Amino acid sequence: MAELPLYSSPKVGGDILAYCSKCQGEFSHVVVSMVDKKPARVQCKMCKGNHNFKRIGDSRAKSVLKNATSKEPRKRVVLAQDYWQQQLDLQKGKPLKPYSPKQTFQKLDVINHTSFGVGIVEEIKIDKKIVVIFRSGEKLLIHALS
Ligand SMILES: [Zn+2]
Repeated sequence: MAELPLYSSPKVGGDILAYCSKCQGEFSHVVVSMVDKKPARVQCKMCKGNHNFKRIGDSRAKSVLKNATSKEPRKRVVLAQDYWQQQLDLQKGKPLKPYSPKQTFQKLDVINHTSFGVGIVEEIKIDKKIVVIFRSGEKLLIHALS
């Protein structure tokens, strides 16, 4: 997430806008310590209190992000499986080709990969790459390696 550049890059002893729970708002703070180029502890210029650096939007932004990520992957896994089953049904009766990077594959070939299982070639890409749908989702594999 991009930080608003309200102040130039933070440094120990420099000013930064931070949320103070005592003053209940965002006020100018002095950076007391930093971790990974981010302010860790700050001192409020209003109440002179020392506390961890935080911005007013932090908790809200995190909960939105958490909601989005907790729903999405589960949905995507189900979809990937359904899609895989669908595509596999469409290619019924096709011979299963063992996957090897040296083999050359065509679109809609059904392949058998030692770790990912049965997959359907969805797309032939440039640079000797193929997009294969597996039960666990799409994978980019190499083919036609000479
Ligand atoms: Zn304060």
